[in-house]
Amino acid sequence: MVEPTAATIEEAASLLRKGGLVAFPTETVYGLGGDATSERAVAAIFEAKGRPKFNPLIAHVVDVADARRFVQWSEAADRLAARFWPGPLTFVLPRAERSAIALLTTAGLDTVAIRAPLHPVAQALIRAAGLPLAAPSANRSGAVSPTRADHVADSLGERVPLILDGGPCLVGVESTVLDLTGPTPVLLRPGGATREAIEVVVGPVELSDALPTGSAIRSSPGQLESHYAPSRPVRLEARQVSPDEGLLAFGPHPPAGAVMTCNLSPAGDLAEAAANLFAYMRALDRPGIGRIAVMPIPQTGLGVAINDRLRRAAADDGTRGRG
Ligand code: AMP
Ligand code: MG
Repeated sequence: MVEPTAATIEEAASLLRKGGLVAFPTETVYGLGGDATSERAVAAIFEAKGRPKFNPLIAHVVDVADARRFVQWSEAADRLAARFWPGPLTFVLPRAERSAIALLTTAGLDTVAIRAPLHPVAQALIRAAGLPLAAPSANRSGAVSPTRADHVADSLGERVPLILDGGPCLVGVESTVLDLTGPTPVLLRPGGATREAIEVVVGPVELSDALPTGSAIRSSPGQLESHYAPSRPVRLEARQVSPDEGLLAFGPHPPAGAVMTCNLSPAGDLAEAAANLFAYMRALDRPGIGRIAVMPIPQTGLGVAINDRLRRAAADDGTRGRG
């Protein structure tokens, strides 16, 4: 744990630019930050958290101008940002064309969750890094969100090389997540900005079906059902391939004979496989391929989250398409 000074923030920024992770305070909770444009850095976040699922993460930016580089900004976003940014309100917006945000940051979705945090240390860090930061709460999976630097140290320990200690978080609950991709804003997660205050600015807000009626705060973030799956059928545990299949391979010895092969990691490295997962699922979801065959992936470390995503893609059986 270090005190945030110009020097330690610069050190943290340089770590982030190299793909490393830094825990930092925001006004909501402490975040475990990594370069949101780097598949490898985001894979490292999931690895450090030990999270068994890839859920979409929030990209943290400095301000509206910064956000516009990564998402298709909207009029409603403009009005809401004027009132709430920087602050605990996250917008879900369509990816900008050639958005640099990594696919692992959005769990393969065509939308990006984005916000500008208010905390001066978060602001300074994002500015110094010159990067949008993916930053879920800085705790091991299943533990409560940390609102103090020593909570982060207790939960993540050696897994995070640098923790910026900015004292206790003022808001202490997660940011509100608002979907602005449709005609009416939809509240996906209640949080630091209230529905009433949002409605004053943009009019009626719908509640997501994913929110249990009557509950003020959903029990766990990331339980949103929408997820990316290829539109072609997916066959798991493939050790051979048939001639109409595209192969999502893993390891040094993929079977021959597929229309096209994308190897998640020829070296059998799970962090590399996680970093390639969404890009390769998309690459194989194309005309000329009847089905996607997937080689077995070890059920350890990041393999747990990779297999969770692949099993869901297989269960969708091509009926769901891109979520
Ligand atoms: P956290 O980063 O832990 O505060 O959680 C991020 C929250 O934002 C989760 O509830 C996600 O499900 C939600 N979220 C992030 N990206 C998206 C997206 N593209 N579409 C819908 N919800 C999202
Ligand atoms: Mg959390």
